[in-house]
Amino acid sequence: MSSKIKILREDYPTLINDDTEIKYDEGWHNIVEGMLAAIKIYEDANLGISNLTPVYISKIESKFGALDVEFDGGDDVVQEIVIFSKTLSFKTCEKCGKLGKLYCSTKWMKWSYKKVLCTAHAVELYYYSIE
Ligand SMILES: [Zn+2]
Repeated sequence: MSSKIKILREDYPTLINDDTEIKYDEGWHNIVEGMLAAIKIYEDANLGISNLTPVYISKIESKFGALDVEFDGGDDVVQEIVIFSKTLSFKTCEKCGKLGKLYCSTKWMKWSYKKVLCTAHAVELYYYSIE
């Protein structure tokens, strides 16, 4: 996984760098890669000709079971790309990328870790279904 993140840092050096905190499991890699590609393509087409400012992402991580992205710059379109990517994470197993839903690490939902998982990974990790 760390080698895949290293490649992302090399492929998108203006969007993320060594100071960007990146922490998520394998299953969300396609979502993150797609998000960075979409932002880069949009930036390349619009920087300098609209009110778009260069995007710098300081954090990409799994937080309360969803993808959390913190960034500076951009515009409304970049905001939408990030929201769309977060929405994909709500239904994508963070371990394997298959269709998933939110599970908890304990029966006491309020105090437990949350993760989006497929049924197989929820069983493997002893996570509890919320619904
Ligand atoms: Zn899975």
